[in-house]
Amino acid sequence: MDEDLRERIRREAEANALFNALKHDSDAQVGAILGPLMGENPEFREHGDEVSGVVAPVVNEVNALDRAEKRARLEELAPERLDELDAEDEGEDHPLPDLPNVEDYDEVRLRCAPNPNGPWHLGHARMPAVIGTYKERYDGWMLVRFDDTDPETKRPDLDAYDDILADIDYLGFEPDEVVTASDRMETYYEHARELIGLGGAYTCSCSGEAFSELKNDGEACPHREKNPGVVRDEFEAMIDGEYDSGEMVLRVKTDIEHKNPALRDFVAFRMVDTPHPREEASEYRCWPMLDFQSGIDDHLLGITHIIRGIDLQDSAKRQAFVYDYFDWEYPEVVHWGHVQVDAYDVKMSTSTIKSKIEAGDLDGWDDPRAPTLKSVRRRGIQGQAIVDAMVELGTSTSDVDLAMSSIYANNRDLIDEETPRAFLVRNGFAPRSEGAEADYAATEVPIAGGPDAAHPPVHPNHEDRGERDIPVGDAVLVETADLPDAGERVWLKGYGPVRYDGDAFTYTDDDIDAVREEGVDVIHWVPATGSVPVRLRQTDGDVYGYAEPGYAEYEPDDLAQFVRVGFARYDRAEDDETVAYYAHS
Ligand SMILES: [Zn+2]
Repeated sequence: MDEDLRERIRREAEANALFNALKHDSDAQVGAILGPLMGENPEFREHGDEVSGVVAPVVNEVNALDRAEKRARLEELAPERLDELDAEDEGEDHPLPDLPNVEDYDEVRLRCAPNPNGPWHLGHARMPAVIGTYKERYDGWMLVRFDDTDPETKRPDLDAYDDILADIDYLGFEPDEVVTASDRMETYYEHARELIGLGGAYTCSCSGEAFSELKNDGEACPHREKNPGVVRDEFEAMIDGEYDSGEMVLRVKTDIEHKNPALRDFVAFRMVDTPHPREEASEYRCWPMLDFQSGIDDHLLGITHIIRGIDLQDSAKRQAFVYDYFDWEYPEVVHWGHVQVDAYDVKMSTSTIKSKIEAGDLDGWDDPRAPTLKSVRRRGIQGQAIVDAMVELGTSTSDVDLAMSSIYANNRDLIDEETPRAFLVRNGFAPRSEGAEADYAATEVPIAGGPDAAHPPVHPNHEDRGERDIPVGDAVLVETADLPDAGERVWLKGYGPVRYDGDAFTYTDDDIDAVREEGVDVIHWVPATGSVPVRLRQTDGDVYGYAEPGYAEYEPDDLAQFVRVGFARYDRAEDDETVAYYAHS
């Protein structure tokens, strides 16, 4: 194979590798490059055996570049392929479907109705993301209503009210109004009294079991035809707290023979012995069920469109009975399926996360292993990246999987251009989840013969942001896995070429062509003295290492892209180490 051909193969392979790596956002693979390369260039085929020998080092070089460098190189080599990539990105359009019958309303009024029984997990972000996006589309109105009328089984967490509002703010939305259901008890009582007056509700002292049995046979209990005066008195006694839990409920009179037993004379109010944790609501014992409370509120607060899980279909049907008694119009309803998230060992459930925190298995709601908004926020992921991923899921009624990789890809697009580069040499890993495997070791290598300092750019695409200043000193730390064989060279990124003699590096005069033409690996490094000890908290464990000295100047919330490692958020400096949270590669 002559040199011309060799060079052509190299260029074609490099363009292909860059394209693939950028497209799939992962390392390019030799195998995946060879097929298309031979397909598009039949003249390469007769040299089949030699071609992979030419391609492999090219792929390694490409994989050593960060995303911005890959884009810059592809632009140089094959600008039309970069255009193709960008066009594909723009072509991916997953708009939310239009809301039904919007033209029938003066204003689209939407509500996000969380139970404040804990800070939000990732799945909770879907509601504000979608509602907030609709609000923007229709120039509508958005309510946050804390449906906190279950003081016992889904007991509110007093911190969660503010935590949830902070989560919504993090996602980039501002509610037009915030209300708390436990402040509105008198309103629910008033409507219950009215419903009793309309003959639409009765007090019932059947045990749950006894009622269930009758109901399943389509038979009314003896309390259904009670004198309305007695019903009124007993309901007032419920409000006054004269019954204990389970002794008396108020039922909505529906159709005792309804084909769906769940809709037969359902409970609207019940007694709860446990006081509500909010002091303002701690005296109430007679609590509305969620279907009653939210049904009344949706009407009174003028909600035009309700978006909720398909598992709550029965809610709309139950509430429709109450709306019929009051002669109210039921809002438009959009149902959606369940959302699941991959990449976490901890189940995405408020109660599971809460119990793991209580048991000490998680450090808190912002532990990087917890699938919560607090956690991803601490890792430096932008709320917008989550909103975009949630909107892409649409509102289908089938269950959907949210891939963390799509949140990461969105976030990378948002922060890549803004985030400065830095070096972090990893040296140790403390796994904190089962099956987590990673092993990092650093080696200190004496260095001589080169400049005193390295000046890599703050950002490879933005010369105007200046250079970093990294003193080299007498020795550097590199990741042991990056060490070349004795006698071989490596390119210390931002510094230059060195030859390794088995003990030490000696600076050589090679120019950058050595990297592309002779397959010299580009590796990251830090000076052995003056570097910053870092604990990088990842979802599966903590990575220990050393960041270049300039990392000491970072402040909380600052982001860095650790070259060849990934994006991370600076969290805090402790006495003996600096703590950062890993976002993604
Ligand atoms: Zn009864």
